[in-house]
Amino acid sequence: MSKLTLGILLIFSGLSAHGFSQEKHIQYKSEYFVILVIDGPRYTETYGDTSCTYIPNICNTLMPQGTFFSNFRNNGPTYTVPGHTALMTGIYQRISNVGAGLPRNPSLFQYYIKERHTLNTDAQIIASKGKLNVLSNTKDRTWNNKFRPYSYCGPNGNGLSYGPDLETMVKVKETLLSATPPHLMMVNLLGVDVNGHGNDWKKYLDNIKYTDAYTLEIWNAIQENPMLKDKTTLFITNDHGRHTEGHKNGFVNHGDGCDGCRHISLLVLGPDVPKNQEITTEAEMIDIPVTIAQMLHIGFPTGKGRFLSEIFTKKL
Ligand SMILES: [Zn+2]
Ligand SMILES: [Zn+2]
Repeated sequence: MSKLTLGILLIFSGLSAHGFSQEKHIQYKSEYFVILVIDGPRYTETYGDTSCTYIPNICNTLMPQGTFFSNFRNNGPTYTVPGHTALMTGIYQRISNVGAGLPRNPSLFQYYIKERHTLNTDAQIIASKGKLNVLSNTKDRTWNNKFRPYSYCGPNGNGLSYGPDLETMVKVKETLLSATPPHLMMVNLLGVDVNGHGNDWKKYLDNIKYTDAYTLEIWNAIQENPMLKDKTTLFITNDHGRHTEGHKNGFVNHGDGCDGCRHISLLVLGPDVPKNQEITTEAEMIDIPVTIAQMLHIGFPTGKGRFLSEIFTKKL
């Protein structure tokens, strides 16, 4: 096949997946999107525990208001930077987990800033882990250093070291309650992951509880801001899980293809999302940015995930 033919085929397959499908013409109520990434809890200690011991706010208050994916997966490298990269760029790739390299492809946030001709503060990354500032840029030559979202990663927002989630939450709430909140926002909270690596079972569980409370605070802040209320979709998800009990060192680490590392979770809430719905079909992290792009009617040709149409099929 000639290069030209292949190019044309690629263009058309891109259009059918992301350009001219039916959903393109649906008008969604959501104008604002928040992706909350709870870093590294294992499914067995969150939704997999049917008594919801460690996530009472999510189970009792948020799940009844949203759509839950019980078979949500990280199908790429199960580390922090690769996981977040998949959520931002819609494609899995190997990438340094210490922040030594940039994502290969532009992120949804870059496409958004470019297409909407908007300020970089209209798409923001706020992360407890400094290394996640690599998400604000890409190696792609035509996009490198262009249309970069605002990034505040690490304790002083300068991309260095790790900060406590409590401080990250101050910044997150300040941003969500501002008069001009960003249309796109990604938040990373690290407490669960760091205490898992610390091999401290009690602190690991305590941090799942803290993060559960922070998640409700984020949802409440959205309801408090008249700019965001009834116009915001919140995606509550993870970058990876942790090793299955009995596999390697269990909850202490992650990074391979075991079910504990791959099985993560997604709970979606917002004005377009049916309440109290559970979806058991498989979905994966690269589907999140593709879904947001389609809800926003933004072109996102490099995103390889699929539109999560099953969220919207049930009547509201
Ligand atoms: Zn980790
Ligand atoms: Zn594993």
